[in-house]
Amino acid sequence: MEDVYLSDGDPYTDTYFMELIKARLQSKYCEIWAGDVNTLSKLELYKTIKPSIGVEHYVKAFYLTTQQRRYIAMCRGGILLFEIEKGRWSNKPRKQRICKQCDNGEVEDIYHFILHCTCNRNLRATYLPPNESLH
Ligand SMILES: [Zn+2]
Repeated sequence: MEDVYLSDGDPYTDTYFMELIKARLQSKYCEIWAGDVNTLSKLELYKTIKPSIGVEHYVKAFYLTTQQRRYIAMCRGGILLFEIEKGRWSNKPRKQRICKQCDNGEVEDIYHFILHCTCNRNLRATYLPPNESLH
């Protein structure tokens, strides 16, 4: 971390100095976080839906249970056991990481699981709003 200096006119208080250090640490953390998110291929979905650090609106607004928040975090972080992840561990070519739950012949990732997999048709009908472009 860079050195932290007080400028003329800054209040010379412990509180001000601690706030200055806190701001610098947060800035550095955000910089490292952004670098990690953009370089890890497993975070492909995550970087499209999470542009900045912070608690997401849905966590506060929908009163999700710990388990629900956990599953959402696992989806966002690319750690559910979809074929796209399993194939990454064994260096299987991406196009060969096909869903074994249906016969669509599509790569099994979060998009396929939520929007295309025929095995989840009933769940989509129950939980997703009607929108022909999703089915
Ligand atoms: Zn499928």
